[in-house]
Amino acid sequence: MAHLTISKIITRSAVSKYATRLYPFVKREPYKNTRGHIANEINLCIFCSLCQKKCPTHAITVKKPDKIWEIDRMKCIQCGACVDACPKKCLSMDQQYSAPSPVKSIESFHQEASTL
Ligand code: SF4
Ligand code: SF4
Repeated sequence: MAHLTISKIITRSAVSKYATRLYPFVKREPYKNTRGHIANEINLCIFCSLCQKKCPTHAITVKKPDKIWEIDRMKCIQCGACVDACPKKCLSMDQQYSAPSPVKSIESFHQEASTL
């Protein structure tokens, strides 16, 4: 009896689809409210550094004189504290995950000088 059950399981496993996906080549649709990665609409940023102060993992660096906002994706835990703290609402939680990487990298956003 047990032999029959095991045979059924083996047959079902052999013909069924894979239970996993070949991420990152095959991505699943994010769930509602998925915390993917922090996005910054950099042209709205006033470089007040509130996000940097609120970040519990020190993932954000704000360089006001150079108008540069940086995030270390590997330090970010997607808590959303920076999004809540931003007075200009330029930070948001995007649903897509950051691409996996074998090396640590800092993502930099640079605000261009206004032409007005
Ligand atoms: S809190 Fe918002 S406006 Fe202030 S530096 Fe961070 S992203 Fe820019
Ligand atoms: S989501 Fe949290 S951990 Fe990530 S940058 Fe914002 S405050 Fe820091």
